[in-house]
Amino acid sequence: MSVPVEERQLPVYRDLTHGQHMGWNCIWCNQRITVGGRAAGHVSTRHGAHHLSVPVYAGPCCSAKEKS
Ligand SMILES: [Zn+2]
Repeated sequence: MSVPVEERQLPVYRDLTHGQHMGWNCIWCNQRITVGGRAAGHVSTRHGAHHLSVPVYAGPCCSAKEKS
């Protein structure tokens, strides 16, 4: 039973790799996204008074929604 990408629980901010944090790598498997990245949402954290939110992406490796 597969869960749609949009409903998966995103990793927490502190677990992001540098590449994921920069939006270069797939949020699910950390592969470098070259083409076909899809927005997977935002991962947010609180840092003192600042609220940080970074957009994260899923590569074609993990966003197989078009496949049926
Ligand atoms: Zn992936």
